[in-house]
Amino acid sequence: MTLTKKPESRPATASWGLASGESPWEYAPAPESTDHIRIEPEYGLFIGNEFRRSKPRKTFTVINPATEEPLSKVAHASKADVARAVATAKEAHRSSWSKLPGRERAKYLYRIARILQERSREFAVVESMNSGKPIKESRDVDVPLAAAHFFYYAGWADKLEYAYPNRQPRSIGVVAQVIPWNFPLLMLAWKIAPALAAGNTVVLKPASTTPLTAYLFADVVRQAELPPGVVNIITGPGEIGMELVRHPDVGKVAFTGSTAVGKMIARALAGTGKKVTLELGGKAANIVFDDAPLDQAIEGIINGIYFNQGEVCCAGSRLFVQESVHEPLLDKLKARLSTLRVGDPLDKNTDVGAINSAGQLAKIEELVQSGIDEGAEIFQPDCVLPDKGFFFRPTLFTGVSQSHRIAQEEIFGPVLSVLTFRTPEEAIEKANNTPYGLSAGVWTEKGSRIFKMVGAMKAGVVWANTFNRFDPTSPFGGYKESGYGREGGIHGLGAYLDLSANGTNGR
Ligand code: NDP
Repeated sequence: MTLTKKPESRPATASWGLASGESPWEYAPAPESTDHIRIEPEYGLFIGNEFRRSKPRKTFTVINPATEEPLSKVAHASKADVARAVATAKEAHRSSWSKLPGRERAKYLYRIARILQERSREFAVVESMNSGKPIKESRDVDVPLAAAHFFYYAGWADKLEYAYPNRQPRSIGVVAQVIPWNFPLLMLAWKIAPALAAGNTVVLKPASTTPLTAYLFADVVRQAELPPGVVNIITGPGEIGMELVRHPDVGKVAFTGSTAVGKMIARALAGTGKKVTLELGGKAANIVFDDAPLDQAIEGIINGIYFNQGEVCCAGSRLFVQESVHEPLLDKLKARLSTLRVGDPLDKNTDVGAINSAGQLAKIEELVQSGIDEGAEIFQPDCVLPDKGFFFRPTLFTGVSQSHRIAQEEIFGPVLSVLTFRTPEEAIEKANNTPYGLSAGVWTEKGSRIFKMVGAMKAGVVWANTFNRFDPTSPFGGYKESGYGREGGIHGLGAYLDLSANGTNGR
């Protein structure tokens, strides 16, 4: 079988109040307006609170993955531009930002948070246009959480000495931050908010496919009247990210992205004494016991893997179901899958939007084909995909074995592998049988079982009877090939501070 085969038709949807064969009613189109959005035809590098052309002048085009139409052109930074951005950040740290008392820095962070709230609709629409994620997610998750991170870290800016008693927390200086395309604004907020609260200045490189909300954020930086050079944003390919993190005047590096690039950065920075946090890939286990409330678990499974088209490092991409409930759970899951609406990210009723790029779509297709070739059984709902754009049907595989590539590799798409287990010990062993260790989920009515499972799971975050919940106060990060260091909460703050006794940042 190949991927071009017509997908299996909808299963009976009796559990959704419909007679067998009766199709669910369709939603009328409800597109979010783009009238209030202004995307510039071209963006320069944001250095010292000004948009500047790259030297030599060079640009690349950014497209809308749902339509494949161009949205804008952005500057392609050169090595000299990286040096310019780092020098500007260094000077801003020396002359202004490190000299401000924490309560003054806090005021700027609060201001940014409030502006993000005021301009939330604009941010949500641009985020959906550029990344392909559904507007209801960018509107209800990405943008509010981004604002929440600035509010939260604003609260820490004047309390650093209370956060680290008997130490002298100091800022590090210039921080280099390289972020991915799956949560462009949210990853920016995760990185910039604690860095500024701690008194550092920043040079951030967004992913090449999704720089537009970062450049919109640059406008917020100016609106909030941050001193020039505190936040600098540069765009360019991966080599420019490497050039940035290797720059000798950078004291701390924060990276979120693939494990392959994370390893390259770790190798490049080994021995330099720079502080590094790496938030990399994942292959999370979502474990459902037979005493779990199944309908609630279904929603958690759906949210776990189809949220943001499954392009989530902590996505619950491996579902482990206790054998006794395997059949009823699968029936419910297929029925629920068939109700997901795939299509225009700007439609308020869309559940699954566009895949971020042609390259990512090809990667998903290749891995799904490997699942078919290795003998797993595919189920895809019979939904109509738009003619243009990078779309992929929500997919689930049954008959998956531990050695299948779809059970081992990060797919980063709307693809779920279903496996079974009999005992908690078997679930633990199978769940931990992965090179990754970012997140996991447990569904059971028994509190004692939750504690047993949470303690045994090699994952940085374990959700119980829920999935994909994020909060600025809660640390996030991984074990093994999912990286090291934590972001969020007080743990995430420490990563941006020099806590050494002699102020050398351990170098
Ligand atoms: P990358 O790791 O390549 O991209 C993440 C960021 O790193 C981007 O800003 C990218 O820039 C930059 N980058 C790329 N190469 C280098 C380099 N050599 N040195 C420094 N920075 C670099 O992820 P991909 O976009 O290629 O995605 C590939 C796979 O990675 C996905 O299929 C998924 O499995 C995983 N991934 C995991 C993420 C997570 O949240 N953990 C996020 C994104 C991807 P540019 O965009 O210009 O290439």
